[in-house]
Amino acid sequence: MMKNTNQYINSEKKRFLSELLELLKIPSVSADSKHDKDTRDCAKWVLKAMNNSGLKNTQLIETAGHPVVFGEFIIDSALPTVLVYGHYDVQPADPIELWNSPPFEPVIKDKVIYARGSADDKGQFYMHLKAIEAMIKTDELPCNVKVLIEGEEEVGSENLDLFIKNNRELLSNDVIIISDTHMIDNDTPSITSGLKGLAYMEVEITGPNRDLHSGTYGGSVANPINVLSKMIASLTDENNRITIPGFYDKVIEVSLEDRVEMGRAPFSEKEFKASIDISMEDGEKGYTTPERQGIRPTLDVNGIWGGYIGEGAKTVLPSKAYAKISMRLVPDQNSIEISELFQKHFESIAPKSVKVKVHTHHGGEPVVTNLNSKGYKAASLAMEKTFGKKPVPVRQGGSIPIVSLFEAELNTNCILIGFGLASDAIHSPNEHYGLFNFYKGIETIPYFFKYFCEL
Ligand SMILES: [Zn+2]
Repeated sequence: MMKNTNQYINSEKKRFLSELLELLKIPSVSADSKHDKDTRDCAKWVLKAMNNSGLKNTQLIETAGHPVVFGEFIIDSALPTVLVYGHYDVQPADPIELWNSPPFEPVIKDKVIYARGSADDKGQFYMHLKAIEAMIKTDELPCNVKVLIEGEEEVGSENLDLFIKNNRELLSNDVIIISDTHMIDNDTPSITSGLKGLAYMEVEITGPNRDLHSGTYGGSVANPINVLSKMIASLTDENNRITIPGFYDKVIEVSLEDRVEMGRAPFSEKEFKASIDISMEDGEKGYTTPERQGIRPTLDVNGIWGGYIGEGAKTVLPSKAYAKISMRLVPDQNSIEISELFQKHFESIAPKSVKVKVHTHHGGEPVVTNLNSKGYKAASLAMEKTFGKKPVPVRQGGSIPIVSLFEAELNTNCILIGFGLASDAIHSPNEHYGLFNFYKGIETIPYFFKYFCEL
Protein backbone atom coordinates (compact mmCIF):
# COMPACT_ATOMS: atom_id res chain seq x y z
CA MET A 1 0.00 0.00 0.00
CA MET A 2 1.31 3.45 -0.88
CA LYS A 3 2.16 5.72 2.02
CA ASN A 4 0.73 9.19 2.41
CA THR A 5 2.98 12.23 2.92
CA ASN A 6 2.85 12.07 6.72
CA GLN A 7 3.62 8.37 6.83
CA TYR A 8 6.47 8.82 4.38
CA ILE A 9 8.00 11.60 6.50
CA ASN A 10 7.68 9.50 9.66
CA SER A 11 9.34 6.48 8.09
CA GLU A 12 12.22 8.48 6.56
CA LYS A 13 13.00 10.78 9.52
CA LYS A 14 16.32 9.18 10.37
CA ARG A 15 17.60 9.36 6.82
CA PHE A 16 16.51 13.00 6.48
CA LEU A 17 18.58 13.86 9.52
CA SER A 18 21.65 11.94 8.45
CA GLU A 19 21.54 13.69 5.07
CA LEU A 20 21.36 17.08 6.77
CA LEU A 21 24.37 16.20 8.93
CA GLU A 22 26.28 15.37 5.75
CA LEU A 23 25.34 18.75 4.25
CA LEU A 24 26.46 20.52 7.42
CA LYS A 25 29.95 19.02 7.10
CA ILE A 26 30.66 21.05 3.95
CA PRO A 27 32.27 24.39 4.93
CA SER A 28 30.53 26.51 2.29
CA VAL A 29 31.74 29.85 3.62
CA SER A 30 30.92 32.20 0.74
CA ALA A 31 32.87 35.15 2.13
CA ASP A 32 36.19 33.31 2.26
CA SER A 33 37.90 32.51 -1.06
CA LYS A 34 39.87 29.75 0.69
CA HIS A 35 36.53 27.94 0.81
CA ASP A 36 35.59 28.50 -2.85
CA LYS A 37 36.03 24.83 -3.68
CA ASP A 38 33.99 23.78 -0.63
CA THR A 39 31.27 26.21 -1.62
CA ARG A 40 31.13 24.75 -5.13
CA ASP A 41 31.17 21.21 -3.71
CA CYS A 42 28.22 22.22 -1.58
CA ALA A 43 26.32 23.44 -4.65
CA LYS A 44 26.99 20.07 -6.32
CA TRP A 45 25.80 18.27 -3.20
CA VAL A 46 22.56 20.27 -3.27
CA LEU A 47 22.12 19.45 -6.97
CA LYS A 48 22.44 15.73 -6.19
CA ALA A 49 20.05 16.07 -3.26
CA MET A 50 17.50 17.74 -5.55
CA ASN A 51 17.79 14.83 -8.00
CA ASN A 52 17.38 12.30 -5.19
CA SER A 53 14.32 14.16 -3.97
CA GLY A 54 12.63 13.67 -7.32
CA LEU A 55 13.00 17.20 -8.72
CA LYS A 56 13.40 17.52 -12.49
CA ASN A 57 15.27 19.92 -14.78
CA THR A 58 17.86 20.30 -12.03
CA GLN A 59 20.76 22.56 -12.86
CA LEU A 60 23.79 24.21 -11.40
CA ILE A 61 23.76 27.69 -12.89
CA GLU A 62 26.91 29.79 -12.97
CA THR A 63 26.92 33.43 -11.86
CA ALA A 64 29.81 35.87 -11.55
CA GLY A 65 30.20 34.45 -8.03
CA HIS A 66 29.05 31.22 -6.44
CA PRO A 67 26.58 29.15 -8.48
CA VAL A 68 22.82 28.95 -8.04
CA VAL A 69 21.14 25.54 -7.82
CA PHE A 70 17.71 25.07 -9.36
CA GLY A 71 15.20 22.25 -9.67
CA GLU A 72 11.49 21.94 -10.34
CA PHE A 73 8.58 19.56 -10.55
CA ILE A 74 5.95 20.70 -12.99
CA ILE A 75 2.71 18.76 -12.93
CA ASP A 76 0.53 20.98 -15.09
CA SER A 77 1.07 24.57 -16.20
CA ALA A 78 -2.57 25.29 -15.32
CA LEU A 79 -1.85 24.62 -11.65
CA PRO A 80 -0.32 27.18 -9.29
CA THR A 81 3.47 27.23 -8.82
CA VAL A 82 5.27 27.60 -5.50
CA LEU A 83 8.86 28.87 -5.59
CA VAL A 84 11.07 27.90 -2.64
CA TYR A 85 14.14 30.04 -1.93
CA GLY A 86 17.02 29.23 0.38
CA HIS A 87 20.81 29.54 0.57
CA TYR A 88 23.50 26.87 0.89
CA ASP A 89 26.29 29.27 1.87
CA VAL A 90 27.09 29.95 5.53
CA GLN A 91 28.73 32.61 7.66
CA PRO A 92 32.41 32.23 8.57
CA ALA A 93 32.85 30.19 11.75
CA ASP A 94 35.15 32.64 13.56
CA PRO A 95 35.89 33.00 16.38
CA ILE A 96 36.49 29.24 16.27
CA GLU A 97 37.84 29.04 19.83
CA LEU A 98 34.38 29.93 21.18
CA TRP A 99 32.77 26.83 19.67
CA ASN A 100 32.16 23.91 22.03
CA SER A 101 32.51 21.50 19.10
CA PRO A 102 34.04 22.02 15.64
CA PRO A 103 31.64 24.09 13.49
CA PHE A 104 31.73 21.69 10.53
CA GLU A 105 31.52 18.47 12.53
CA PRO A 106 27.85 18.49 13.51
CA VAL A 107 26.93 17.00 16.87
CA ILE A 108 23.51 16.41 18.40
CA LYS A 109 23.21 17.27 22.06
CA ASP A 110 19.89 17.37 23.96
CA LYS A 111 17.93 17.09 20.69
CA VAL A 112 19.72 20.07 19.16
CA ILE A 113 22.09 20.01 16.17
CA TYR A 114 25.23 22.12 16.66
CA ALA A 115 26.94 23.21 13.44
CA ARG A 116 27.54 26.30 11.35
CA GLY A 117 24.57 26.65 8.98
CA SER A 118 22.31 24.33 10.99
CA ALA A 119 19.64 27.05 11.33
CA ASP A 120 20.90 29.56 8.74
CA ASP A 121 20.00 28.23 6.32
CA LYS A 122 20.90 24.62 5.55
CA GLY A 123 18.66 23.08 8.20
CA GLN A 124 15.81 25.29 7.06
CA PHE A 125 16.01 24.91 3.27
CA TYR A 126 16.59 21.18 3.63
CA MET A 127 13.18 20.87 5.33
CA HIS A 128 11.67 22.05 2.05
CA LEU A 129 13.60 19.53 -0.06
CA LYS A 130 12.47 16.70 2.19
CA ALA A 131 8.86 17.88 2.37
CA ILE A 132 8.81 18.14 -1.43
CA GLU A 133 10.39 14.69 -1.71
CA ALA A 134 7.67 13.26 0.52
CA MET A 135 4.94 14.84 -1.61
CA ILE A 136 6.50 13.72 -4.91
CA LYS A 137 7.19 10.14 -3.79
CA THR A 138 3.67 9.69 -2.45
CA ASP A 139 2.04 11.35 -5.42
CA GLU A 140 0.54 14.00 -3.16
CA LEU A 141 2.22 17.13 -4.53
CA PRO A 142 -0.85 19.25 -5.32
CA CYS A 143 0.79 21.83 -7.61
CA ASN A 144 4.00 22.81 -9.38
CA VAL A 145 7.10 23.55 -7.38
CA LYS A 146 10.40 25.28 -8.17
CA VAL A 147 13.39 25.38 -5.85
CA LEU A 148 16.12 28.02 -5.98
CA ILE A 149 19.05 27.66 -3.58
CA GLU A 150 21.74 30.31 -3.89
CA GLY A 151 25.29 30.51 -2.55
CA GLU A 152 25.83 34.19 -1.84
CA GLU A 153 23.20 35.23 0.69
CA GLU A 154 25.76 35.77 3.42
CA VAL A 155 27.75 38.12 1.18
CA GLY A 156 24.79 40.25 0.07
CA SER A 157 23.36 38.16 -2.84
CA GLU A 158 25.26 40.44 -5.19
CA ASN A 159 24.77 38.33 -8.31
CA LEU A 160 21.22 37.24 -7.62
CA ASP A 161 19.75 40.47 -8.97
CA LEU A 162 21.10 39.78 -12.46
CA PHE A 163 20.29 36.08 -12.20
CA ILE A 164 16.64 36.84 -11.47
CA LYS A 165 16.44 39.45 -14.23
CA ASN A 166 17.87 36.92 -16.72
CA ASN A 167 15.64 34.05 -15.58
CA ARG A 168 12.21 35.56 -15.01
CA GLU A 169 10.51 32.79 -17.00
CA LEU A 170 12.35 29.97 -15.24
CA LEU A 171 11.46 31.47 -11.85
CA SER A 172 7.86 32.53 -12.61
CA ASN A 173 5.54 31.56 -9.76
CA ASP A 174 2.39 32.33 -7.79
CA VAL A 175 4.00 32.58 -4.38
CA ILE A 176 7.53 32.45 -2.93
CA ILE A 177 8.14 30.65 0.33
CA ILE A 178 11.29 31.24 2.38
CA SER A 179 12.41 29.65 5.64
CA ASP A 180 15.30 31.86 6.73
CA THR A 181 13.77 33.66 9.74
CA HIS A 182 12.70 32.62 13.23
CA MET A 183 9.53 32.08 15.25
CA ILE A 184 8.79 33.54 18.70
CA ASP A 185 9.27 30.17 20.42
CA ASN A 186 8.34 26.51 20.00
CA ASP A 187 5.00 27.10 21.73
CA THR A 188 4.30 30.39 19.96
CA PRO A 189 4.54 29.91 16.21
CA SER A 190 4.85 33.11 14.23
CA ILE A 191 5.30 34.27 10.66
CA THR A 192 7.44 37.25 9.69
CA SER A 193 4.90 39.53 8.04
CA GLY A 194 7.04 42.55 7.31
CA LEU A 195 10.54 43.89 7.07
CA LYS A 196 11.74 47.47 7.13
CA GLY A 197 13.57 49.32 4.40
CA LEU A 198 16.60 51.52 4.91
CA ALA A 199 17.88 54.93 3.88
CA TYR A 200 21.43 55.62 5.05
CA MET A 201 22.89 59.14 4.99
CA GLU A 202 26.19 60.76 5.85
CA VAL A 203 26.44 64.50 6.52
CA GLU A 204 29.36 66.87 6.69
CA ILE A 205 29.17 70.36 8.20
CA THR A 206 31.97 72.82 7.48
CA GLY A 207 32.46 76.06 9.38
CA PRO A 208 35.74 78.01 9.15
CA ASN A 209 38.41 76.87 6.68
CA ARG A 210 40.60 75.46 9.49
CA ASP A 211 40.48 74.53 13.17
CA LEU A 212 40.52 77.73 15.24
CA HIS A 213 41.54 78.76 18.77
CA SER A 214 38.34 78.52 20.81
CA GLY A 215 39.39 81.41 23.05
CA THR A 216 40.19 83.83 20.25
CA TYR A 217 37.35 82.83 17.90
CA GLY A 218 34.86 81.07 20.20
CA GLY A 219 31.46 82.78 20.33
CA SER A 220 32.06 84.74 17.14
CA VAL A 221 32.19 81.94 14.56
CA ALA A 222 29.70 79.07 14.10
CA ASN A 223 31.02 75.84 15.62
CA PRO A 224 30.11 72.97 13.21
CA ILE A 225 29.66 70.46 16.04
CA ASN A 226 27.31 72.79 17.94
CA VAL A 227 25.41 73.44 14.71
CA LEU A 228 25.23 69.75 13.75
CA SER A 229 23.94 68.84 17.23
CA LYS A 230 21.12 71.38 16.93
CA MET A 231 20.27 70.23 13.41
CA ILE A 232 20.11 66.58 14.49
CA ALA A 233 18.06 67.45 17.58
CA SER A 234 15.51 69.20 15.37
CA LEU A 235 14.95 66.06 13.25
CA THR A 236 12.49 64.74 15.84
CA ASP A 237 9.87 66.61 17.85
CA GLU A 238 8.67 66.32 21.46
CA ASN A 239 6.55 63.27 20.52
CA ASN A 240 9.50 61.61 18.80
CA ARG A 241 7.92 62.16 15.40
CA ILE A 242 10.34 62.78 12.56
CA THR A 243 10.10 66.39 11.34
CA ILE A 244 11.34 66.00 7.76
CA PRO A 245 8.49 67.41 5.62
CA GLY A 246 6.78 64.64 3.64
CA PHE A 247 8.49 61.87 5.65
CA TYR A 248 5.20 60.23 6.68
CA ASP A 249 3.25 60.99 3.47
CA LYS A 250 3.50 57.46 2.06
CA VAL A 251 3.40 55.55 5.34
CA ILE A 252 0.50 53.12 5.25
CA GLU A 253 -1.10 53.21 8.67
CA VAL A 254 -1.59 49.68 10.00
CA SER A 255 -5.24 48.90 10.65
CA LEU A 256 -6.43 48.50 14.21
CA GLU A 257 -7.41 44.92 13.34
CA ASP A 258 -3.85 44.09 12.23
CA ARG A 259 -2.39 45.86 15.28
CA VAL A 260 -4.55 43.70 17.55
CA GLU A 261 -3.44 40.57 15.65
CA MET A 262 0.25 41.51 16.00
CA GLY A 263 -0.35 42.41 19.64
CA ARG A 264 -0.91 38.72 20.37
CA ALA A 265 2.87 38.28 20.36
CA PRO A 266 4.03 37.93 23.96
CA PHE A 267 6.10 40.93 25.11
CA SER A 268 7.37 41.80 28.57
CA GLU A 269 8.26 45.45 29.09
CA LYS A 270 10.09 44.51 32.26
CA GLU A 271 12.25 41.86 30.59
CA PHE A 272 12.92 44.15 27.65
CA LYS A 273 14.18 46.94 29.90
CA ALA A 274 16.23 44.56 32.03
CA SER A 275 17.80 42.92 28.97
CA ILE A 276 19.44 46.18 27.89
CA ASP A 277 19.64 47.83 31.32
CA ILE A 278 17.44 50.87 30.75
CA SER A 279 14.90 52.28 33.18
CA MET A 280 12.47 53.64 30.60
CA GLU A 281 11.48 52.93 27.02
CA ASP A 282 11.37 55.77 24.54
CA GLY A 283 9.88 56.28 21.10
CA GLU A 284 7.07 57.67 19.00
CA LYS A 285 4.05 58.66 21.06
CA GLY A 286 0.95 56.51 20.62
CA TYR A 287 2.68 53.22 19.86
CA THR A 288 3.87 50.24 21.92
CA THR A 289 7.50 49.12 21.92
CA PRO A 290 6.90 46.20 19.50
CA GLU A 291 4.96 48.58 17.23
CA ARG A 292 7.75 51.14 17.28
CA GLN A 293 10.15 48.37 16.33
CA GLY A 294 7.96 46.71 13.73
CA ILE A 295 5.50 49.06 12.07
CA ARG A 296 6.83 52.61 12.51
CA PRO A 297 9.62 54.34 10.58
CA THR A 298 12.56 55.51 12.67
CA LEU A 299 15.61 57.78 12.48
CA ASP A 300 18.85 57.14 14.32
CA VAL A 301 22.28 58.73 14.41
CA ASN A 302 24.70 55.85 13.96
CA GLY A 303 27.88 57.82 14.52
CA ILE A 304 28.99 61.39 15.10
CA TRP A 305 32.50 62.82 15.07
CA GLY A 306 34.66 65.89 14.65
CA GLY A 307 37.03 68.17 16.57
CA TYR A 308 39.47 66.98 19.19
CA ILE A 309 38.86 63.54 20.70
CA GLY A 310 42.37 62.70 21.93
CA GLU A 311 43.65 62.63 25.49
CA GLY A 312 43.46 65.71 27.70
CA ALA A 313 42.10 69.09 26.62
CA LYS A 314 42.67 70.90 23.37
CA THR A 315 40.79 74.17 23.08
CA VAL A 316 39.75 73.97 19.49
CA LEU A 317 36.87 75.33 17.48
CA PRO A 318 36.74 72.63 14.77
CA SER A 319 36.40 73.27 11.08
CA LYS A 320 34.23 70.20 10.44
CA ALA A 321 31.66 67.89 11.99
CA TYR A 322 30.22 64.65 10.62
CA ALA A 323 27.42 62.21 11.31
CA LYS A 324 26.01 59.00 9.88
CA ILE A 325 22.23 58.89 10.08
CA SER A 326 19.98 55.97 9.15
CA MET A 327 16.25 55.81 8.68
CA ARG A 328 14.34 52.51 8.82
CA LEU A 329 11.37 52.62 6.49
CA VAL A 330 7.95 51.03 6.31
CA PRO A 331 5.57 50.50 3.37
CA ASP A 332 5.07 52.48 1.12
CA GLN A 333 8.08 54.67 1.83
CA ASN A 334 10.78 54.49 -0.82
CA SER A 335 14.47 54.73 0.08
CA ILE A 336 15.38 57.05 -2.81
CA GLU A 337 12.50 59.43 -2.12
CA ILE A 338 13.22 59.50 1.59
CA SER A 339 16.93 60.13 0.97
CA GLU A 340 16.00 63.08 -1.24
CA LEU A 341 13.55 64.46 1.33
CA PHE A 342 16.23 64.14 4.00
CA GLN A 343 18.84 65.91 1.88
CA LYS A 344 16.52 68.79 0.97
CA HIS A 345 15.42 69.26 4.56
CA PHE A 346 18.88 68.96 6.05
CA GLU A 347 20.27 71.54 3.64
CA SER A 348 17.34 73.85 4.36
CA ILE A 349 17.81 73.85 8.14
CA ALA A 350 21.55 74.62 7.99
CA PRO A 351 22.36 78.19 9.08
CA LYS A 352 24.19 80.41 6.56
CA SER A 353 27.25 80.35 8.82
CA VAL A 354 28.15 76.78 7.70
CA LYS A 355 28.29 74.71 4.52
CA VAL A 356 26.54 71.34 4.45
CA LYS A 357 27.16 68.25 2.33
CA VAL A 358 24.77 65.29 2.32
CA HIS A 359 25.77 61.92 0.92
CA THR A 360 23.46 58.94 0.40
CA HIS A 361 24.79 55.44 1.17
CA HIS A 362 23.02 52.22 0.21
CA GLY A 363 19.29 51.80 0.69
CA GLY A 364 16.67 49.06 0.70
CA GLU A 365 12.92 48.88 0.33
CA PRO A 366 10.42 47.78 2.98
CA VAL A 367 8.10 44.83 2.43
CA VAL A 368 4.91 43.75 4.09
CA THR A 369 2.76 40.65 3.76
CA ASN A 370 -0.94 41.12 3.27
CA LEU A 371 -2.49 39.06 6.06
CA ASN A 372 -5.46 38.40 3.78
CA SER A 373 -3.37 37.05 0.90
CA LYS A 374 -3.68 33.42 -0.12
CA GLY A 375 -0.01 32.80 0.68
CA TYR A 376 -0.21 34.17 4.21
CA LYS A 377 -3.48 32.39 4.94
CA ALA A 378 -2.10 29.07 3.69
CA ALA A 379 1.03 29.46 5.84
CA SER A 380 -1.05 30.41 8.85
CA LEU A 381 -3.41 27.44 8.43
CA ALA A 382 -0.45 25.08 7.92
CA MET A 383 1.19 26.18 11.17
CA GLU A 384 -2.10 26.08 13.02
CA LYS A 385 -2.56 22.51 11.81
CA THR A 386 0.81 21.23 13.06
CA PHE A 387 1.34 23.45 16.13
CA GLY A 388 -2.28 23.46 17.24
CA LYS A 389 -2.10 27.27 17.52
CA LYS A 390 -2.69 30.09 15.10
CA PRO A 391 0.69 31.76 14.38
CA VAL A 392 1.25 35.43 15.24
CA PRO A 393 2.25 37.80 12.42
CA VAL A 394 5.43 39.62 13.41
CA ARG A 395 6.91 42.66 11.71
CA GLN A 396 10.66 42.81 12.08
CA GLY A 397 12.79 45.94 12.16
CA GLY A 398 15.56 44.38 10.07
CA SER A 399 15.83 44.05 6.33
CA ILE A 400 16.28 41.08 3.93
CA PRO A 401 17.12 42.75 0.59
CA ILE A 402 16.34 39.68 -1.56
CA VAL A 403 12.70 39.79 -0.47
CA SER A 404 12.01 43.19 -2.01
CA LEU A 405 14.10 42.17 -5.01
CA PHE A 406 11.96 39.05 -5.59
CA GLU A 407 8.73 40.95 -5.14
CA ALA A 408 9.78 43.67 -7.58
CA GLU A 409 11.23 41.38 -10.26
CA LEU A 410 8.85 38.43 -10.12
CA ASN A 411 5.75 40.31 -9.06
CA THR A 412 4.65 37.83 -6.40
CA ASN A 413 4.61 37.77 -2.61
CA CYS A 414 7.19 36.21 -0.34
CA ILE A 415 5.96 34.24 2.66
CA LEU A 416 8.58 34.21 5.43
CA ILE A 417 7.81 31.05 7.35
CA GLY A 418 10.91 30.38 9.42
CA PHE A 419 11.09 27.54 11.95
CA GLY A 420 14.24 28.63 13.78
CA LEU A 421 14.43 30.50 17.08
CA ALA A 422 16.03 33.85 17.87
CA SER A 423 18.24 31.93 20.32
CA ASP A 424 19.73 29.68 17.59
CA ALA A 425 22.93 31.78 17.57
CA ILE A 426 22.99 32.23 13.81
CA HIS A 427 26.13 34.11 12.67
CA SER A 428 27.60 33.34 16.14
CA PRO A 429 29.65 30.53 17.70
CA ASN A 430 27.67 27.37 18.56
CA GLU A 431 24.93 27.95 16.02
CA HIS A 432 22.29 25.30 16.51
CA TYR A 433 18.93 24.08 15.30
CA GLY A 434 16.43 21.97 17.21
CA LEU A 435 15.38 18.58 15.91
CA PHE A 436 11.86 19.62 16.90
CA ASN A 437 12.14 22.59 14.53
CA PHE A 438 13.64 20.57 11.69
CA TYR A 439 10.92 17.91 11.83
CA LYS A 440 8.13 20.39 12.51
CA GLY A 441 9.12 22.27 9.38
CA ILE A 442 9.09 19.14 7.23
CA GLU A 443 5.69 18.25 8.65
CA THR A 444 4.21 21.75 8.15
CA ILE A 445 5.39 22.56 4.62
CA PRO A 446 3.15 20.02 2.79
CA TYR A 447 0.12 21.61 4.48
CA PHE A 448 1.19 24.97 3.09
CA PHE A 449 1.07 23.47 -0.42
CA LYS A 450 -2.28 21.82 0.28
CA TYR A 451 -3.96 24.95 1.64
CA PHE A 452 -2.42 27.21 -0.97
CA CYS A 453 -4.01 25.08 -3.70
CA GLU A 454 -7.35 24.75 -1.90
CA LEU A 455 -7.89 28.43 -0.99
ZN1 LIG B 1 20.10 33.09 6.10
